[in-house]
Amino acid sequence: MEAIHLKTPLILSRTLSDRVGVRTYLKLDNLQPTGSFKVRGMGVATQRAKLEQDCISLVSSSGGNAGLATAYCGQQLGMHTTVVLPETATDLAKRKIASLGAEVVVRGGHWAESNAFAETLVEESRSSGGSKAVLIHPFDMPDLWEGHSTLVDEVREQLPEGVTPSAIFASVGGGGLLMGILQGVKRAGWREDVKVVPCETFGANALALSLERNERAEIAITSLAKSLGADKIGIEILAECLDGGYDIEPIVVTDEEAVGACLKFALDHGMLVEPACGASMAPLYYHGDRVRKLCGGGGEGRCIVVEVCGGGAFNSIEMLQGYASALGLDMNGNKA
Ligand SMILES: *Cc1c(COP(=O)(O)O)cnc(C)c1O
Repeated sequence: MEAIHLKTPLILSRTLSDRVGVRTYLKLDNLQPTGSFKVRGMGVATQRAKLEQDCISLVSSSGGNAGLATAYCGQQLGMHTTVVLPETATDLAKRKIASLGAEVVVRGGHWAESNAFAETLVEESRSSGGSKAVLIHPFDMPDLWEGHSTLVDEVREQLPEGVTPSAIFASVGGGGLLMGILQGVKRAGWREDVKVVPCETFGANALALSLERNERAEIAITSLAKSLGADKIGIEILAECLDGGYDIEPIVVTDEEAVGACLKFALDHGMLVEPACGASMAPLYYHGDRVRKLCGGGGEGRCIVVEVCGGGAFNSIEMLQGYASALGLDMNGNKA
């Protein structure tokens, strides 16, 4: 079956290359259908559910990009999709998800409660012998990781002959995207040679804290980068980070830097992404020296790749303006 996700462009960013002093490429997964990388993993997971598990309906408990991508896949595959959202979900999220033909159910005060209800929906469908449903987790599911890993295969094919990354930057919430990237890096034979740089914001830094403590840390979410708001990393994902033999160097940025990076990226490249995505560009915009050092100064045949994970669907210029003025930033992403 043909993949549901698109092969996205890899572009050279002149402004970021100049800022950091290392050739920097952007993998534009913000151009995927529904505006984020999520459809890579959700596409594989939903196709397998349909073909291998004989499912006819999908359930998601995400009011964010994962729910939107699941609804899109359900629509593409002709499968009934239910998305369970907490009471805190915005009208925009409900409207966008419903516009893809999914049934929107509001249940629970926060994600864990919505997810518990989504699990009961799936159990009921199985025990009743009726329409078999499958729960598509937002980040903790092997089929997802396999789908996400395709982005590294594409990068390898798209980079100019003889160029390999010194470092790959990507945002981390629950760690699904990171796990996909690790798998892709391993497949490319880049494990020892390519640094993986997971990016988080303070108040959503469950991975950085876990790597520091060498055990799974649970945090209270305070960051405005909502798509990074997982209170802990998936168990298998953390184990792969700790024991997989990769060269991983996490970076944590402030909300201010994440929002500022969104504004600068909008000015430089004319595209709107979420603060969750800004987090992976913020080190290049605000910590060029550290980034240059981290990748050994670049050098002949080396470059930086940033996974532009996207998430513009729940963003708007007004929202970004609101964050900027609350944080004391002007519309160029500088301290006003
Ligand atoms: C889902 C998402 C993330 C985090 O991905 P995880 O797999 O949960 O780590 C980051 N940015 C955006 C825009 C997302 O949609």
